[in-house]
Amino acid sequence: MELTTSKLVPDEVLEASSCHLCYKYLTVTPIQSIDGCTICGRCNPKTAIKAILQFHGSFSSDQPLKDLPVSLLGYMTNPKSLYPCVNRLDGCGELLKLTDIEKHEEYCLYEDTSCPKCSFKGVGSQLWQHFKRHHQKSLLCSSTPFYVDLSQSFQEVYLFRKGDFVCWLKMFYQEEFSQCLFQTTCVTRGTRRSKIKLSLNMDGFADVYEYVVLSNQLEMRDKRDYVINLKIDDIHLKETPFIVCKYDVVSLD
Ligand SMILES: [Zn+2]
Ligand SMILES: [Zn+2]
Ligand SMILES: [Zn+2]
Repeated sequence: MELTTSKLVPDEVLEASSCHLCYKYLTVTPIQSIDGCTICGRCNPKTAIKAILQFHGSFSSDQPLKDLPVSLLGYMTNPKSLYPCVNRLDGCGELLKLTDIEKHEEYCLYEDTSCPKCSFKGVGSQLWQHFKRHHQKSLLCSSTPFYVDLSQSFQEVYLFRKGDFVCWLKMFYQEEFSQCLFQTTCVTRGTRRSKIKLSLNMDGFADVYEYVVLSNQLEMRDKRDYVINLKIDDIHLKETPFIVCKYDVVSLD
């Protein structure tokens, strides 16, 4: 039996940087560095120069690829390296060789998702990189605690990710009714059997009191909403102005 020596490019290498223009992975060549901005082969360098001129008013000469992480360069020079598709967070599970990516992307097409905080639009991996740069505080993973201020009404939206699954978590709090709504909307296409887990703590009293909500088994589908509705007064969390939340989507497949 032939030993497989394929090397999957790990997320921390693949996602350490992205194209300055389109926010996609730096996996389509030629990759160029213009005035310190790394541009992927999907984007037109002329557009990059225009964008830089608009932003800075000038640009210096082309530079070598100083912004391309050395670790990624290491994988790129190994022909056995395999890369997750740029549409991985939308539902494509393909693992591709660097030389096959451009062709694959011609027919692996997914609808863009709009950023709820600004005018940006993109597929899941672009959104993730966009949030990393522009809305860092609204990124969530299953272990990330986030704070909720119960002294006034608010609404907030988070981008949650677990592996190749992403969804929006929208929160609405109405102070006068002490009502908190947690709305999950999947971005990743397809159907998955999952449970939503929400845990709430009083800030500073993690050991004293924790309120956990585990939803029923859900057949979660993209673009459909799943809502958990909580009356904060009823769960005795209102003694502190802040509560600490943790959110998770537990897959049952
Ligand atoms: Zn690009
Ligand atoms: Zn694909
Ligand atoms: Zn945005």
